[in-house]
Amino acid sequence: QVSSEPRRTTKETHPHLPPGLILDENGKVCKVCNTWQDFAKINKKQQTQSSDGTSSQGKTALKGMSMAGFANLLNNSQASSSNNPTLAPVEVDRSNCPPDTASLGRSTWTFLHTTASYYPSNPTEIHQSKITNLLESLSIFYPCSWCAKDFQKDIRQNPPEVKNREDFMRWLCERHNTVNKKLNKPLFECSIKNLDRRWKDGPED
Ligand code: FAD
Repeated sequence: QVSSEPRRTTKETHPHLPPGLILDENGKVCKVCNTWQDFAKINKKQQTQSSDGTSSQGKTALKGMSMAGFANLLNNSQASSSNNPTLAPVEVDRSNCPPDTASLGRSTWTFLHTTASYYPSNPTEIHQSKITNLLESLSIFYPCSWCAKDFQKDIRQNPPEVKNREDFMRWLCERHNTVNKKLNKPLFECSIKNLDRRWKDGPED
């Protein structure tokens, strides 16, 4: 969750919690601003630290815990610093868990690129203003607040190009690549052919 925005993490404000977890505006561990991997690393650290007394059942519970459960445990540990949680082991089935940064991001990009793929070739003024509103609203309400702030900056510098389907698809591809670059992910080749193959038509048979 690399971001150019300053973020409050457990390191600065919660010395009793493992460092590096991003906090929400209420000072609680933010589920949608961290990834499952972040939680897994902390889970490992928690297990190492708990060699002084956590029961093996407790360790199993931590290992199998959902992210929501783990975040709750961390948040509750502010009130009680007990390191002997009596938690029943749970199955790791994350399909009904709150999203982390990665799954929220994938779902949002899927919605946006698919919407761009089906955007009209000759949009009306109303289409253009509605889609611009949607993108600006997204940049305000996107639940990962650090991501949202960077996205706001990016679309201020590069206002939505929504005069037709192809312009919109390319513009969106470039915005996604800006995030890819920030996260050191591979860049996508923003030709319409490539975008249509990925988001509308699928590969040729
Ligand atoms: P994703 O990046 O989610 O991409 C999904 C699929 O889209 C890929 O598999 C690929 O097939 C295709 N794709 C990739 N690039 C492009 C492109 N340029 N054009 C078209 N298709 C493409 N995460 C953070 O950690 N920090 C942030 O600041 C942050 N900001 C975000 C801002 C927005 C507006 C959104 C929607 C998401 C943001 N994310 C951020 C989430 C991040 O972009 C990824 O969604 C997340 O890391 C999961 O990445 P992924 O590798 O699964 O693939």
